Amino acid sequence: MSTVKEEITANLRQVAAGLPSNVCLVAVSKTKPMAYIEWAYEAGQRVFGENKALELRDKYMALPKDIQWHFIGHLQTNKIKYIAPFVSMIHSIDSLELLEAVDKQAQKHKRVIPCLLQFHIAAEETKFGLSLEEAEALLQSDRFAALKHVRIDGVMGMATFTDNREQVRGEFERLKQYFEALKARYFATADHFKEISMGMSEDYPLAIEAGSTLVRVGSKIFGARVYA
Ligand SMILES: *Cc1c(COP(=O)(O)O)cnc(C)c1O
Repeated sequence: MSTVKEEITANLRQVAAGLPSNVCLVAVSKTKPMAYIEWAYEAGQRVFGENKALELRDKYMALPKDIQWHFIGHLQTNKIKYIAPFVSMIHSIDSLELLEAVDKQAQKHKRVIPCLLQFHIAAEETKFGLSLEEAEALLQSDRFAALKHVRIDGVMGMATFTDNREQVRGEFERLKQYFEALKARYFATADHFKEISMGMSEDYPLAIEAGSTLVRVGSKIFGARVYA
């Protein structure tokens, strides 16, 4: 019988070994105890993802300060203040209002927060995200041009929860096309616009084939999540 620590270490090594060098692993530690993150940290992992602002803030305060924390969940405007001082990237920008609110909090801390535009690529209506038209309207707006404390580094999306690999592949390829379209139209000379955040435990190999640069892997490293 191996311990949980041994399992996490082995899972992490296995996932990391399968990634091309240009793909960054975001280890999604949401709902998992601090000890699990410490074990992954001891195994060399430095980038972690969380989807609740208060949980992220508590983990940030308790854990080593060279961890890069990525916020990957739906973000409520009134919770931004908890993560604005330290968060390394927010993957889930799905409105101009949210981006303005992040800018306002980032300004208070004299920071520029890297953000990704989240796209709705899945069939499920319950998933959040922009359409290409909505993203373009955002990027063309004067309100966006006025923001000085956020930087758009790329795009993010979640595929449909399905066994149909061709459907998932098609959704990832669509997100890659959105990225290329926005890059050409709005960020042609901006080196920072380079991230495509796609791929989770069940589908990250497909996402990498489609051009992912950031995979968000949770249960394959830390085990299945149990929600009370
Ligand atoms: C939970 C979550 C993940 C990780 O999911 P796993 O299937 O456990 O790898 C990735 N991205 C987002 C946005 C999530 O909420």
